[in-house]
Amino acid sequence: MPTRYDVIVVGAGPAGGTAARYAARRGLKVLLVDKRKEIGVPVQCGEYVAQNDEVRAIFPTVSDLEDLMAVPYRVREVDTPVIRIWSPAGRRYDIPFRGFTVRRDKMDQGIAAQAEAEGAEVATETTVLRVHGEEVETNHGVLHARVMIGSDGPRSTVAKSVGLEWPVSAPAMSATAEGDFGTATDMFFGNLAPGGYAWIIPKAGCANVGLGTWEHFRGNLRALFDKFTADHELEPGKATGGFVPVQGPPPRTVAGNAMLVGDAAGMVMATNGGGNNVAMIAGRIAGNTAADHLLDGTPLDAYEARWRSAVGGPLAQGVRIKHLADRFFGSDRLLELSMVLLGRRRMARAIRCQPLFVRGSASII
Ligand SMILES: Cc1cc2nc3c(=O)[nH]c(=O)nc-3n(C[C@H](O)[C@H](O)[C@H](O)COP(=O)(O)OP(=O)(O)OC[C@H]3O[C@@H](n4cnc5c(N)ncnc54)[C@H](O)[C@@H]3O)c2cc1C
Repeated sequence: MPTRYDVIVVGAGPAGGTAARYAARRGLKVLLVDKRKEIGVPVQCGEYVAQNDEVRAIFPTVSDLEDLMAVPYRVREVDTPVIRIWSPAGRRYDIPFRGFTVRRDKMDQGIAAQAEAEGAEVATETTVLRVHGEEVETNHGVLHARVMIGSDGPRSTVAKSVGLEWPVSAPAMSATAEGDFGTATDMFFGNLAPGGYAWIIPKAGCANVGLGTWEHFRGNLRALFDKFTADHELEPGKATGGFVPVQGPPPRTVAGNAMLVGDAAGMVMATNGGGNNVAMIAGRIAGNTAADHLLDGTPLDAYEARWRSAVGGPLAQGVRIKHLADRFFGSDRLLELSMVLLGRRRMARAIRCQPLFVRGSASII
């Protein structure tokens, strides 16, 4: 492997694979590294992706989604037209929302293959231990990059190395359960998953089942997962755990020659924990900004303004709604009441990280 690159992308999830793809498309010498032996394995995801028309409604300035989302669409399994939100007492609120499920391992592998097809090199079993200026210290020695893209997930080594660590993340766990689960996506709220929710997301001949909590959770996640799956008579396979950065992006995502993207930059919709779509949108912006910087001298800082203008508003709104919801989480009685008061229409807005209460032209929250 050569040691000098224009861009080294650390982490081959949807954010990193996408960033590498678009940077390589512009003719840069790009290396995409991941510590895993096989990209995308094990899956640590509910495997739910929002359809492009929903994404356009939430992030109206984002264009050319067909090119961006080609792989998720190619590996899609089940179209799910409705999210059924269940209150602690079992009230059901049906929210029309168009999404689909994927094999997430196939999705990450497919995006990395797209990056390779554009000319990027891909190196697995390559762990980045630290970055410093243009140096990238890995388990295979030191590499050099003019630009670094940290897409190494919620506990990002790159973020830590460049002083942009943002430690707020919440534990989650999921597994696959065999069976026919129809097409609705179910989200269950209450103390069964404090501060978060449990889910059953239909896939082809099976479902992704799991739960996520909040960042304050200090209990036994496995016990909650076992109880939830037993209560719903699910027979999950091997479960995997992960973390979801639920407090939104940090104040800065660029430092020196490094940009952060995806979970490494807290780019998750705080009201639903979804980060796949945003990771890819911001990944494209990161890859293109690296190219603009190296080819035309655009300051790397432009990345900050570009991704915030594309997705920053709804991400910030999601955090505001989550802070409001956090006041009710922890008490099933309060949560039940707040869900009744919120009603189906406002829940639909919350899921999309849109303002819940609007007075005149101003949104109150
Ligand atoms: C249990 C669970 C369920 C979820 N369900 C959904 C869902 O249904 N829909 C949705 O939209 N979002 C979901 N999310 C969130 C979603 O998975 C993330 O937002 C998304 O994966 C972010 O992509 P990413 O590329 O930023 O990071 P990741 O997908 O986390 O990829 C980071 C990559 O970096 C690699 N890496 C980490 N450290 C290093 C290192 N030091 N050196 C080299 N490589 C490194 C990792 O191996 C990994 O491949 C879920 C999250 C969890 C934990």
